[in-house]
Amino acid sequence: MATFDSSAGPGAVLTIDLDAIAANWRQLADLCAPAECGACVKADAYGLGVGRVATALSGAGCTTFFVADALEGAELRGILPKATIYVFNGVWAETAEALRTFRMIPVLNSLAQVETWQAQAANQSAGLAAALHIDTGMSRLGLEESEAAELAAHPERLKGLDVKLIMSHLACASEHKNPMNHRQLKRFQELRAPFGEIPASIANSSAIFLGKDYHLNLTRPGIAIYGGNPVSVDPNPMAETVRLRARILQVRDVDSPMTVGYGATHAVTKHTKIATISIGYADGFMRSLGNRGCAYIAGKPAPVVGRVSMDMVTLDVTGIPGNEAREGGYADVIGGAASLDGVAGNAGTVSYELLSRLGRRFHREYRGGRK
Ligand SMILES: *Cc1c(COP(=O)(O)O)cnc(C)c1O
Repeated sequence: MATFDSSAGPGAVLTIDLDAIAANWRQLADLCAPAECGACVKADAYGLGVGRVATALSGAGCTTFFVADALEGAELRGILPKATIYVFNGVWAETAEALRTFRMIPVLNSLAQVETWQAQAANQSAGLAAALHIDTGMSRLGLEESEAAELAAHPERLKGLDVKLIMSHLACASEHKNPMNHRQLKRFQELRAPFGEIPASIANSSAIFLGKDYHLNLTRPGIAIYGGNPVSVDPNPMAETVRLRARILQVRDVDSPMTVGYGATHAVTKHTKIATISIGYADGFMRSLGNRGCAYIAGKPAPVVGRVSMDMVTLDVTGIPGNEAREGGYADVIGGAASLDGVAGNAGTVSYELLSRLGRRFHREYRGGRK
């Protein structure tokens, strides 16, 4: 069978720096100590590839990982045989046996989930590991406050379970001055106190930067590991981990009264150079970036003009000096001057969505990591 080297083709190139990912995690772990620092690797490690990312994090010293669902946990178990793996969406009758077989720890979000997991525990001699999630303000997942109080008052209702962790999640952690953060922390402390010495966790990336009070026993950062700004003000304390470059497919000269792209939404008013690059909304370059934001060529901004197509974006490269904007050359789409949070902001979204929706057809290059 013939093979095709995707690095040679005209497609976009996604470069993921595993050393930067490991360094970000170590920076967070240092901030959290003596609390333990875990890592969220749900959604294929925020789109960056759970196999390579989890291996790099494990190499950096991370032993506790969080995923959203059992399928992700089973995949992670194949990558890291010894890791502690928590599954945020808990246990279902259909997933209970797999959770036990793959030694995952479900985060139990309701009394019904407690009972489902206890049914699995009935076949075991030792207590079956579990976490409890108490909702303190998200109204999303987790036990009601009254249900948590009920379990604390009646420990026999947790019979057969070995509760390793009690957690909650903040609604406004990225807004450092929001009083809801402290209210949720206080409520969580009150609700978990009757459970005694069971370790506790409330901090995502942003909450780690709210201070020691929020670190408790274990933290659960995600986006900061991947280079997203956890503090919502400049400068971003985290290292860049992702660069995305697209290839310039064609450059043309256009003059008034021509228009650019679908819907003719951009009208050319003077002599203009347009470069078409090899990335589109199918690659996660969101359609909302049409006529907004820019790519960078040789460090200079090239504004997006016209709508984003499935496979292509058109840039105004009139202002790019010399021969830099040429067919076969590259435009920087994410990374460097095109910061992850900046591009996400232009798209009307957050770094989380931008990363986790990065497409599958890039040529992917991993830098660093253990060989
Ligand atoms: C995704 C997630 C995290 C990680 O959040 P970041 O903001 O990416 O650090 C932590 N806890 C829970 C419950 C999550 O769903």
